[in-house]
Amino acid sequence: MGQVDAIVAGAGIWGCTVARVLAENGRKVLVLEKRPHVGGNVRCETDPETGIEVHTYGSHIFHTHIDRVWDFVRRFVEFNGYQHKVLARHAGKTYFLPLGLALVNQFYGLDLKPSELPDFIAAEAGRGTRPCVPANFEEQAIAFIGKPLYDAFIREYTRKQWGTDPRNLGADIIKRLPVRASYDINYYSDYRQGIPLTGYNSLFDRLLDHPNISVECNVDWLEWRHQAPSTKHQAPVFYSGPIDALFGYKFGPLPWRSLRFERECLPLADFQGTSVVNYTDADVPFTRIHEFKHYHPENAAVMAAPSTIICCEYPQTWKLGDEPYYPVDTPESRERLALYTAEAAKVPGLVVGGRLGEYRYYDIDRSIDRALETASGWMSTN
Ligand SMILES: Cc1cc2nc3c(=O)[nH]c(=O)nc-3n(C[C@H](O)[C@H](O)[C@H](O)COP(=O)(O)OP(=O)(O)OC[C@H]3O[C@@H](n4cnc5c(N)ncnc54)[C@H](O)[C@@H]3O)c2cc1C
Repeated sequence: MGQVDAIVAGAGIWGCTVARVLAENGRKVLVLEKRPHVGGNVRCETDPETGIEVHTYGSHIFHTHIDRVWDFVRRFVEFNGYQHKVLARHAGKTYFLPLGLALVNQFYGLDLKPSELPDFIAAEAGRGTRPCVPANFEEQAIAFIGKPLYDAFIREYTRKQWGTDPRNLGADIIKRLPVRASYDINYYSDYRQGIPLTGYNSLFDRLLDHPNISVECNVDWLEWRHQAPSTKHQAPVFYSGPIDALFGYKFGPLPWRSLRFERECLPLADFQGTSVVNYTDADVPFTRIHEFKHYHPENAAVMAAPSTIICCEYPQTWKLGDEPYYPVDTPESRERLALYTAEAAKVPGLVVGGRLGEYRYYDIDRSIDRALETASGWMSTN
Protein backbone atom coordinates (compact mmCIF):
# COMPACT_ATOMS: atom_id res chain seq x y z
CA MET A 1 0.00 0.00 0.00
CA GLY A 2 1.46 3.37 -1.03
CA GLN A 3 -0.48 6.32 0.34
CA VAL A 4 -1.87 5.69 3.84
CA ASP A 5 -4.75 7.81 5.17
CA ALA A 6 -4.80 6.27 8.65
CA ILE A 7 -2.85 3.86 10.80
CA VAL A 8 -4.63 1.52 13.18
CA ALA A 9 -2.24 0.29 15.87
CA GLY A 10 -3.68 -2.84 17.48
CA ALA A 11 -5.89 -5.38 15.70
CA GLY A 12 -8.31 -6.27 18.51
CA ILE A 13 -12.03 -5.82 17.99
CA TRP A 14 -11.77 -2.06 18.53
CA GLY A 15 -8.99 -1.56 15.98
CA CYS A 16 -10.50 -3.92 13.37
CA THR A 17 -13.88 -2.17 13.62
CA VAL A 18 -12.28 1.26 13.22
CA ALA A 19 -10.24 0.01 10.24
CA ARG A 20 -13.34 -1.42 8.54
CA VAL A 21 -15.41 1.76 8.91
CA LEU A 22 -12.58 3.96 7.62
CA ALA A 23 -11.95 1.59 4.69
CA GLU A 24 -15.61 1.51 3.73
CA ASN A 25 -15.49 5.30 3.66
CA GLY A 26 -12.72 5.27 1.10
CA ARG A 27 -9.69 5.67 3.40
CA LYS A 28 -6.56 3.59 2.90
CA VAL A 29 -5.77 1.99 6.24
CA LEU A 30 -2.62 0.30 7.48
CA VAL A 31 -3.26 -2.01 10.45
CA LEU A 32 -0.24 -2.80 12.60
CA GLU A 33 -0.42 -5.55 15.21
CA LYS A 34 2.24 -6.36 17.77
CA ARG A 35 1.26 -10.01 18.16
CA PRO A 36 1.72 -12.62 15.41
CA HIS A 37 -2.06 -12.67 14.89
CA VAL A 38 -5.04 -10.33 14.69
CA GLY A 39 -8.08 -10.58 17.00
CA GLY A 40 -6.62 -9.26 20.25
CA ASN A 41 -7.94 -11.08 23.30
CA VAL A 42 -10.91 -12.51 21.42
CA ARG A 43 -8.50 -14.65 19.37
CA CYS A 44 -9.11 -18.41 19.28
CA GLU A 45 -7.13 -21.45 18.14
CA THR A 46 -8.61 -24.59 16.62
CA ASP A 47 -7.10 -27.65 18.24
CA PRO A 48 -5.80 -29.81 15.36
CA GLU A 49 -6.58 -33.13 17.10
CA THR A 50 -10.12 -32.51 18.31
CA GLY A 51 -11.30 -29.59 16.13
CA ILE A 52 -12.30 -27.74 19.32
CA GLU A 53 -12.20 -23.93 19.15
CA VAL A 54 -10.08 -22.89 22.15
CA HIS A 55 -10.44 -19.33 23.43
CA THR A 56 -6.78 -18.41 23.92
CA TYR A 57 -7.33 -15.53 26.36
CA GLY A 58 -10.29 -16.94 28.28
CA SER A 59 -13.90 -17.64 27.31
CA HIS A 60 -15.58 -15.03 25.14
CA ILE A 61 -19.34 -15.05 24.62
CA PHE A 62 -20.83 -12.45 22.35
CA HIS A 63 -23.96 -10.82 23.75
CA THR A 64 -25.58 -7.48 23.06
CA HIS A 65 -28.68 -5.36 23.25
CA ILE A 66 -27.20 -2.68 20.97
CA ASP A 67 -28.99 -2.81 17.60
CA ARG A 68 -26.28 -1.20 15.51
CA VAL A 69 -23.63 -3.55 16.93
CA TRP A 70 -25.78 -6.60 16.21
CA ASP A 71 -26.42 -5.38 12.66
CA PHE A 72 -22.72 -4.64 12.17
CA VAL A 73 -21.30 -8.00 13.32
CA ARG A 74 -23.90 -10.01 11.42
CA ARG A 75 -22.64 -8.54 8.17
CA PHE A 76 -19.53 -10.66 8.77
CA VAL A 77 -20.57 -13.74 10.75
CA GLU A 78 -23.62 -15.72 11.77
CA PHE A 79 -24.07 -16.73 15.40
CA ASN A 80 -24.95 -20.18 16.67
CA GLY A 81 -27.50 -19.09 19.28
CA TYR A 82 -25.46 -20.44 22.21
CA GLN A 83 -26.93 -19.15 25.49
CA HIS A 84 -24.43 -18.75 28.31
CA LYS A 85 -25.03 -20.49 31.62
CA VAL A 86 -22.57 -20.50 34.51
CA LEU A 87 -22.54 -22.99 37.32
CA ALA A 88 -20.86 -22.65 40.70
CA ARG A 89 -19.21 -25.32 42.83
CA HIS A 90 -19.46 -24.75 46.57
CA ALA A 91 -18.91 -27.24 49.41
CA GLY A 92 -19.15 -30.23 47.11
CA LYS A 93 -22.37 -29.15 45.38
CA THR A 94 -23.15 -27.57 42.03
CA TYR A 95 -25.46 -24.54 41.78
CA PHE A 96 -26.86 -22.51 38.92
CA LEU A 97 -25.78 -18.88 38.77
CA PRO A 98 -26.77 -16.07 38.69
CA LEU A 99 -28.38 -15.50 42.07
CA GLY A 100 -32.00 -16.43 41.48
CA LEU A 101 -34.70 -18.88 42.46
CA ALA A 102 -32.73 -21.96 41.36
CA LEU A 103 -29.71 -21.10 43.49
CA VAL A 104 -31.54 -19.69 46.53
CA ASN A 105 -34.01 -22.57 46.77
CA GLN A 106 -31.26 -25.16 46.44
CA PHE A 107 -28.91 -23.40 48.86
CA TYR A 108 -31.50 -22.86 51.60
CA GLY A 109 -33.50 -26.05 50.87
CA LEU A 110 -36.64 -23.97 50.22
CA ASP A 111 -39.38 -23.80 47.63
CA LEU A 112 -39.81 -20.03 47.35
CA LYS A 113 -42.11 -18.65 44.70
CA PRO A 114 -41.06 -15.66 42.54
CA SER A 115 -43.19 -13.28 44.61
CA GLU A 116 -41.54 -14.48 47.85
CA LEU A 117 -37.92 -14.13 46.83
CA PRO A 118 -37.44 -10.33 47.19
CA ASP A 119 -38.75 -10.30 50.78
CA PHE A 120 -36.68 -13.36 51.66
CA ILE A 121 -33.47 -11.75 50.37
CA ALA A 122 -34.30 -8.44 52.06
CA ALA A 123 -34.78 -10.29 55.37
CA GLU A 124 -31.46 -12.14 54.92
CA ALA A 125 -29.72 -8.85 54.09
CA GLY A 126 -31.24 -7.17 57.15
CA ARG A 127 -30.15 -9.92 59.59
CA GLY A 128 -27.48 -9.06 62.17
CA THR A 129 -25.89 -5.71 62.89
CA ARG A 130 -25.12 -3.66 59.85
CA PRO A 131 -23.28 -0.38 59.33
CA CYS A 132 -25.47 2.53 58.16
CA VAL A 133 -23.16 3.16 55.20
CA PRO A 134 -21.23 0.12 53.89
CA ALA A 135 -17.51 0.92 54.13
CA ASN A 136 -16.16 -1.77 51.83
CA PHE A 137 -17.03 -4.42 49.25
CA GLU A 138 -17.91 -7.04 51.86
CA GLU A 139 -20.29 -4.82 53.80
CA GLN A 140 -21.93 -3.66 50.59
CA ALA A 141 -22.39 -7.22 49.27
CA ILE A 142 -23.87 -8.42 52.58
CA ALA A 143 -26.22 -5.43 52.55
CA PHE A 144 -27.47 -6.62 49.16
CA ILE A 145 -27.81 -10.39 49.64
CA GLY A 146 -27.09 -11.33 53.27
CA LYS A 147 -24.12 -13.14 54.83
CA PRO A 148 -24.80 -16.82 53.99
CA LEU A 149 -25.00 -16.27 50.22
CA TYR A 150 -22.08 -13.85 50.35
CA ASP A 151 -19.91 -16.31 52.28
CA ALA A 152 -20.77 -19.19 49.96
CA PHE A 153 -20.57 -17.59 46.53
CA ILE A 154 -18.85 -14.20 46.67
CA ARG A 155 -16.23 -13.86 49.41
CA GLU A 156 -13.57 -16.39 48.41
CA TYR A 157 -14.19 -16.00 44.68
CA THR A 158 -13.61 -12.25 45.03
CA ARG A 159 -10.52 -12.82 47.18
CA LYS A 160 -9.04 -15.07 44.47
CA GLN A 161 -10.09 -12.75 41.66
CA TRP A 162 -8.54 -9.62 43.15
CA GLY A 163 -5.83 -11.18 45.33
CA THR A 164 -6.96 -9.31 48.42
CA ASP A 165 -9.48 -9.55 51.25
CA PRO A 166 -12.82 -8.16 49.97
CA ARG A 167 -12.78 -5.81 52.97
CA ASN A 168 -9.85 -4.03 51.28
CA LEU A 169 -11.95 -3.35 48.18
CA GLY A 170 -14.14 -0.27 47.82
CA ALA A 171 -17.91 -0.51 48.38
CA ASP A 172 -18.44 1.32 45.08
CA ILE A 173 -17.05 -1.64 43.06
CA ILE A 174 -20.48 -3.28 43.34
CA LYS A 175 -23.25 -0.91 42.40
CA ARG A 176 -25.81 -3.69 42.81
CA LEU A 177 -26.00 -7.48 43.11
CA PRO A 178 -29.15 -8.40 41.25
CA VAL A 179 -31.17 -11.39 42.44
CA ARG A 180 -33.53 -12.73 39.78
CA ALA A 181 -36.99 -13.60 41.03
CA SER A 182 -37.25 -16.35 38.41
CA TYR A 183 -35.71 -19.63 37.28
CA ASP A 184 -34.03 -17.83 34.35
CA ILE A 185 -30.49 -19.18 34.49
CA ASN A 186 -29.28 -17.39 31.39
CA TYR A 187 -26.15 -15.63 32.61
CA TYR A 188 -26.70 -12.57 30.41
CA SER A 189 -29.95 -10.74 30.01
CA ASP A 190 -29.23 -9.89 26.33
CA TYR A 191 -31.34 -12.12 24.12
CA ARG A 192 -28.87 -11.66 21.24
CA GLN A 193 -26.11 -14.04 22.15
CA GLY A 194 -23.86 -16.61 20.62
CA ILE A 195 -20.53 -17.67 19.23
CA PRO A 196 -19.72 -17.14 15.53
CA LEU A 197 -20.64 -20.36 13.70
CA THR A 198 -17.41 -20.14 11.73
CA GLY A 199 -15.37 -19.19 14.82
CA TYR A 200 -14.20 -15.84 16.19
CA ASN A 201 -11.14 -15.70 13.94
CA SER A 202 -13.36 -15.60 10.86
CA LEU A 203 -14.93 -12.40 12.23
CA PHE A 204 -11.53 -10.70 12.28
CA ASP A 205 -10.43 -12.07 8.91
CA ARG A 206 -13.63 -10.79 7.29
CA LEU A 207 -13.50 -7.40 9.02
CA LEU A 208 -10.02 -6.87 7.61
CA ASP A 209 -10.79 -8.32 4.18
CA HIS A 210 -11.19 -5.05 2.27
CA PRO A 211 -9.15 -3.63 -0.62
CA ASN A 212 -8.44 -0.45 1.38
CA ILE A 213 -6.96 -2.36 4.34
CA SER A 214 -3.50 -3.83 4.62
CA VAL A 215 -2.32 -5.66 7.72
CA GLU A 216 1.12 -6.24 9.18
CA CYS A 217 1.53 -8.46 12.24
CA ASN A 218 4.56 -8.65 14.54
CA VAL A 219 4.87 -4.85 14.35
CA ASP A 220 4.93 -2.79 17.53
CA TRP A 221 3.73 0.65 16.48
CA LEU A 222 5.51 2.28 19.43
CA GLU A 223 8.81 1.21 17.84
CA TRP A 224 7.68 1.43 14.21
CA ARG A 225 6.67 5.11 14.53
CA HIS A 226 10.33 6.09 14.95
CA GLN A 227 11.46 4.16 11.85
CA ALA A 228 8.56 4.53 9.40
CA PRO A 229 8.81 6.46 6.13
CA SER A 230 7.65 10.03 6.79
CA THR A 231 4.46 9.80 4.65
CA LYS A 232 3.18 6.90 6.74
CA HIS A 233 4.50 8.33 9.95
CA GLN A 234 2.40 11.45 9.54
CA ALA A 235 -0.91 9.65 8.97
CA PRO A 236 -3.45 9.92 11.81
CA VAL A 237 -3.18 7.04 14.26
CA PHE A 238 -5.89 5.04 16.04
CA TYR A 239 -4.01 3.42 18.92
CA SER A 240 -5.51 0.66 21.10
CA GLY A 241 -2.42 -0.39 23.04
CA PRO A 242 -1.84 0.53 26.69
CA ILE A 243 -2.06 4.30 27.19
CA ASP A 244 0.75 4.34 29.77
CA ALA A 245 3.13 2.54 27.35
CA LEU A 246 2.48 5.32 24.84
CA PHE A 247 4.22 7.78 27.15
CA GLY A 248 6.97 5.47 28.42
CA TYR A 249 5.10 4.98 31.74
CA LYS A 250 6.25 8.42 32.79
CA PHE A 251 3.54 8.78 35.46
CA GLY A 252 4.04 5.15 36.51
CA PRO A 253 2.33 2.01 35.12
CA LEU A 254 -1.44 1.64 35.41
CA PRO A 255 -2.13 -1.47 37.54
CA TRP A 256 -3.86 -4.57 36.14
CA ARG A 257 -4.92 -7.97 37.36
CA SER A 258 -3.50 -10.77 35.26
CA LEU A 259 -4.55 -14.37 34.60
CA ARG A 260 -2.78 -17.65 34.02
CA PHE A 261 -4.51 -20.39 32.03
CA GLU A 262 -3.65 -24.07 32.44
CA ARG A 263 -4.98 -26.06 29.51
CA GLU A 264 -5.45 -29.83 29.36
CA CYS A 265 -6.83 -32.28 26.82
CA LEU A 266 -8.74 -35.08 28.59
CA PRO A 267 -9.72 -38.49 27.19
CA LEU A 268 -13.39 -37.86 28.00
CA ALA A 269 -16.32 -36.84 25.80
CA ASP A 270 -17.51 -34.42 28.46
CA PHE A 271 -15.78 -33.24 31.64
CA GLN A 272 -18.27 -30.92 33.34
CA GLY A 273 -21.38 -30.86 31.17
CA THR A 274 -21.23 -27.12 30.55
CA SER A 275 -18.86 -24.42 29.34
CA VAL A 276 -17.96 -22.61 32.59
CA VAL A 277 -18.00 -23.63 36.24
CA ASN A 278 -16.96 -21.14 38.93
CA TYR A 279 -15.15 -22.46 42.00
CA THR A 280 -16.20 -20.31 44.93
CA ASP A 281 -14.29 -21.98 47.79
CA ALA A 282 -10.88 -21.08 49.19
CA ASP A 283 -9.41 -24.58 48.95
CA VAL A 284 -9.50 -24.52 45.12
CA PRO A 285 -6.78 -22.20 43.82
CA PHE A 286 -8.39 -21.35 40.48
CA THR A 287 -11.59 -19.36 39.90
CA ARG A 288 -13.08 -21.17 36.91
CA ILE A 289 -12.85 -24.17 34.62
CA HIS A 290 -13.71 -23.57 30.98
CA GLU A 291 -14.65 -26.47 28.72
CA PHE A 292 -14.61 -25.14 25.19
CA LYS A 293 -16.51 -27.76 23.20
CA HIS A 294 -19.77 -26.64 24.85
CA TYR A 295 -19.59 -23.33 22.98
CA HIS A 296 -20.47 -25.15 19.76
CA PRO A 297 -23.42 -27.44 20.58
CA GLU A 298 -24.33 -27.31 16.88
CA ASN A 299 -21.10 -29.11 15.97
CA ALA A 300 -22.16 -32.72 16.45
CA ALA A 301 -18.75 -34.15 15.50
CA VAL A 302 -16.88 -32.06 18.09
CA MET A 303 -19.51 -32.73 20.78
CA ALA A 304 -19.31 -36.48 20.20
CA ALA A 305 -15.50 -36.62 20.01
CA PRO A 306 -14.02 -38.84 22.74
CA SER A 307 -11.82 -36.03 24.09
CA THR A 308 -12.35 -32.57 25.48
CA ILE A 309 -10.22 -29.51 26.26
CA ILE A 310 -10.51 -27.79 29.62
CA CYS A 311 -8.72 -24.79 31.00
CA CYS A 312 -8.29 -23.71 34.64
CA GLU A 313 -8.15 -19.95 35.20
CA TYR A 314 -5.81 -18.64 37.90
CA PRO A 315 -5.93 -14.91 38.68
CA GLN A 316 -2.51 -13.52 39.45
CA THR A 317 -0.60 -10.41 40.37
CA TRP A 318 0.34 -8.31 37.36
CA LYS A 319 3.74 -6.77 36.74
CA LEU A 320 4.96 -4.78 33.79
CA GLY A 321 5.39 -7.17 30.84
CA ASP A 322 2.61 -9.56 31.93
CA GLU A 323 -0.63 -9.82 29.97
CA PRO A 324 -3.07 -7.18 31.32
CA TYR A 325 -6.62 -8.51 31.83
CA TYR A 326 -8.65 -6.47 34.32
CA PRO A 327 -7.95 -2.80 35.12
CA VAL A 328 -7.66 -2.18 38.87
CA ASP A 329 -10.00 0.70 39.58
CA THR A 330 -8.74 2.72 42.57
CA PRO A 331 -8.60 6.48 43.26
CA GLU A 332 -4.84 6.34 42.50
CA SER A 333 -5.25 4.53 39.18
CA ARG A 334 -8.02 6.93 38.15
CA GLU A 335 -5.75 9.88 38.90
CA ARG A 336 -2.89 8.37 36.91
CA LEU A 337 -5.19 7.60 34.00
CA ALA A 338 -6.35 11.22 33.93
CA LEU A 339 -2.71 12.35 33.55
CA TYR A 340 -2.13 10.01 30.60
CA THR A 341 -5.46 10.91 28.98
CA ALA A 342 -4.56 14.61 29.19
CA GLU A 343 -1.16 13.89 27.56
CA ALA A 344 -2.81 11.94 24.74
CA ALA A 345 -5.24 14.78 24.04
CA LYS A 346 -2.25 17.05 23.31
CA VAL A 347 -0.90 14.83 20.51
CA PRO A 348 -2.26 15.97 17.11
CA GLY A 349 -3.70 13.23 14.90
CA LEU A 350 -3.82 10.66 17.69
CA VAL A 351 -6.98 8.84 18.76
CA VAL A 352 -6.64 6.45 21.71
CA GLY A 353 -9.28 3.78 22.34
CA GLY A 354 -10.05 0.18 23.22
CA ARG A 355 -9.76 -1.50 26.59
CA LEU A 356 -6.01 -0.85 26.91
CA GLY A 357 -6.17 2.71 25.61
CA GLU A 358 -9.08 3.73 27.81
CA TYR A 359 -8.02 1.48 30.71
CA ARG A 360 -11.59 0.21 31.04
CA TYR A 361 -13.27 -3.18 30.99
CA TYR A 362 -15.53 -3.31 27.95
CA ASP A 363 -17.47 -6.29 26.66
CA ILE A 364 -17.01 -7.05 22.95
CA ASP A 365 -20.26 -5.31 21.98
CA ARG A 366 -19.34 -2.13 23.87
CA SER A 367 -15.88 -2.20 22.27
CA ILE A 368 -17.50 -2.38 18.82
CA ASP A 369 -19.99 0.33 19.70
CA ARG A 370 -17.26 2.68 20.88
CA ALA A 371 -15.20 1.94 17.76
CA LEU A 372 -18.18 2.69 15.49
CA GLU A 373 -18.73 5.95 17.35
CA THR A 374 -15.03 6.91 17.24
CA ALA A 375 -14.61 6.10 13.55
CA SER A 376 -17.79 7.83 12.39
CA GLY A 377 -17.03 10.86 14.58
CA TRP A 378 -13.57 11.10 13.05
CA MET A 379 -14.94 10.65 9.51
CA SER A 380 -17.31 13.56 9.98
CA THR A 381 -14.47 15.99 10.68
CA ASN A 382 -11.64 14.57 8.52
C1 LIG B 1 -10.81 -12.77 30.90
C2 LIG B 1 -11.73 -11.96 30.03
C3 LIG B 1 -12.89 -12.54 29.52
C4 LIG B 1 -13.74 -11.79 28.72
N1 LIG B 1 -14.89 -12.38 28.28
C5 LIG B 1 -15.75 -11.66 27.53
C6 LIG B 1 -17.01 -12.23 27.10
O1 LIG B 1 -17.34 -13.37 27.42
N2 LIG B 1 -17.83 -11.47 26.34
C7 LIG B 1 -17.52 -10.19 25.98
O2 LIG B 1 -18.31 -9.52 25.29
N3 LIG B 1 -16.33 -9.62 26.37
C8 LIG B 1 -15.46 -10.32 27.13
N4 LIG B 1 -14.24 -9.76 27.50
C9 LIG B 1 -13.89 -8.42 27.00
C10 LIG B 1 -13.14 -8.49 25.64
O3 LIG B 1 -11.95 -9.24 25.81
C11 LIG B 1 -12.84 -7.06 25.17
O4 LIG B 1 -14.06 -6.39 24.92
C12 LIG B 1 -12.01 -6.96 23.89
O5 LIG B 1 -10.90 -7.80 23.89
C13 LIG B 1 -11.55 -5.52 23.70
O6 LIG B 1 -10.92 -5.38 22.46
P1 LIG B 1 -9.77 -4.30 22.23
O7 LIG B 1 -9.56 -4.21 20.78
O8 LIG B 1 -10.11 -3.06 22.97
O9 LIG B 1 -8.50 -4.86 23.01
P2 LIG B 1 -7.55 -6.15 22.72
O10 LIG B 1 -8.39 -7.32 22.37
O11 LIG B 1 -6.67 -6.24 23.88
O12 LIG B 1 -6.76 -5.69 21.43
C14 LIG B 1 -5.70 -4.75 21.48
C15 LIG B 1 -4.67 -5.18 20.47
O13 LIG B 1 -3.66 -4.16 20.38
C16 LIG B 1 -2.40 -4.80 20.24
N5 LIG B 1 -1.35 -3.84 20.61
C17 LIG B 1 -1.06 -3.37 21.84
N6 LIG B 1 -0.03 -2.50 21.78
C18 LIG B 1 0.33 -2.41 20.48
C19 LIG B 1 1.33 -1.70 19.80
N7 LIG B 1 2.18 -0.88 20.44
N8 LIG B 1 1.46 -1.86 18.46
C20 LIG B 1 0.63 -2.70 17.79
N9 LIG B 1 -0.34 -3.42 18.40
C21 LIG B 1 -0.50 -3.27 19.73
C22 LIG B 1 -2.52 -6.00 21.14
O14 LIG B 1 -1.56 -6.99 20.82
C23 LIG B 1 -3.96 -6.46 20.86
O15 LIG B 1 -4.01 -7.38 19.79
C24 LIG B 1 -13.42 -10.46 28.36
C25 LIG B 1 -12.24 -9.88 28.87
C26 LIG B 1 -11.44 -10.61 29.73
C27 LIG B 1 -10.24 -9.94 30.35
